[in-house]
Amino acid sequence: MPRPEGQPRPSNPDGRPNRPLRTLAVVRTERLTPGMVRVILTGPDLDELPELTLTDHYVKLRFGDVTRTYTIRSFDREARELAIDFVIHGDEGLAGPWAAAAQPGDTVTFAGPGGGWAPSPDADAHLLVGDESALPAIAAALDRLKATRDDARADVYLEVAGAGEQQVLPTTAGTTVTWIHRGPGDRYGEALTRAVIEAVLPDGRLEAFVHGNADMVKPLRRHLFTMLSIPRENVSISGYWRTGMNEDGWQSSKREFNAQMEAEQDARV
Ligand SMILES: Cc1cc2nc3c(=O)[nH]c(=O)nc-3n(C[C@H](O)[C@H](O)[C@H](O)COP(=O)(O)OP(=O)(O)OC[C@H]3O[C@@H](n4cnc5c(N)ncnc54)[C@H](O)[C@@H]3O)c2cc1C
Repeated sequence: MPRPEGQPRPSNPDGRPNRPLRTLAVVRTERLTPGMVRVILTGPDLDELPELTLTDHYVKLRFGDVTRTYTIRSFDREARELAIDFVIHGDEGLAGPWAAAAQPGDTVTFAGPGGGWAPSPDADAHLLVGDESALPAIAAALDRLKATRDDARADVYLEVAGAGEQQVLPTTAGTTVTWIHRGPGDRYGEALTRAVIEAVLPDGRLEAFVHGNADMVKPLRRHLFTMLSIPRENVSISGYWRTGMNEDGWQSSKREFNAQMEAEQDARV
């Protein structure tokens, strides 16, 4: 049974919430594209998962003492199946290689879910921007829009390595998906940033969800907050990973990265 709303969670001596660890087994994997694999997990621990009301719910997968953060692409409580889509980015790292080699019966332990965003039904339009790492959260947001507001306008900009990495996405009648292909010399997020800055965005109350490589966060924050004056509370934006850093390195430097970015932005205004 999900934990009832409002019931306090026991905490560690340092005051941080003591998040329960859950263990699941791989049921099957699906190669979505050459660079993305879906791992479908099951197990009785899924019965304990709270109701998932957001579209960017994530879990912290454990590899020994190290964690890696992944979006819940979908959760079917009746079938007891939870799907996570992993970017396969070569031999480096823990989670990517684990997913690439995952076999039915393999197990994985995780903490969570956490999360913070879902498309608001009151927005006039939605801007969804990301690279492959944010594709699962963006697809989950489109699933939600399709189920709740099929007339919703959603302008989606997704950067992937090439045409073979494009996926069929759930769409509303008002969805436009623009696929941007990284050029051979492009840094992650460079072509995507250009495309969003050049785009003619819809009028009205626009909500934005912008995630992926950290390098695109600074210019896109400036564009959305300073150039377009979109209120901060209408934007969810963050770096999901950073080139040349593993997740431990990125997470431990993220606070400083964000503080520096805020300071630079304040100095410009
Ligand atoms: C809230 C949140 C949700 C996320 N959801 C997803 C998701 O659903 N699917 C997903 O695939 N990722 C997702 N990510 C990103 C994922 O956590 C990172 O990509 C993570 O670094 C991958 O761990 P790893 O062990 O494979 O590689 P690491 O050990 O962390 O890194 C090894 C090397 O690979 C590079 N690297 C890491 N990620 C990528 C990448 N995507 N492309 C190219 N090079 C990379 C690193 O810079 C480093 O050089 C999410 C991150 C956050 C914060």
